[in-house]
Amino acid sequence: MPMWKCKVCGFVFEGPEPPEKCPKCGAPKDQFVKLSEEEEKLILRARLTNSLHMEAYTLLQRLLEIAEKGIQDNLDPPCVKIFTEEKEFALTMMQKIKAELEAHMKKGKW
Ligand SMILES: [Zn+2]
Repeated sequence: MPMWKCKVCGFVFEGPEPPEKCPKCGAPKDQFVKLSEEEEKLILRARLTNSLHMEAYTLLQRLLEIAEKGIQDNLDPPCVKIFTEEKEFALTMMQKIKAELEAHMKKGKW
């Protein structure tokens, strides 16, 4: 299926023809450019990995919430230490994922 990219906002549309208007920014049809086969391949190849990163990000957000509750509960120092390490781990991994996804976007793997 051909892919078309909005020059205004970057929205990628899949279909035989570009849409009448961009679903994201409302730009007219003539603002869409057809992606090359190479560009399409990059997007298709990265799709699974991108969605796995987003799923992991959601889990890390949950871990962050759990760790913050544990820190607040403050049962004893060893527990607080574990929750603090979990919080740092979650925050670091979330930043790593965001940096990687940003790199994917810059390379057209999105
Ligand atoms: Zn657009």
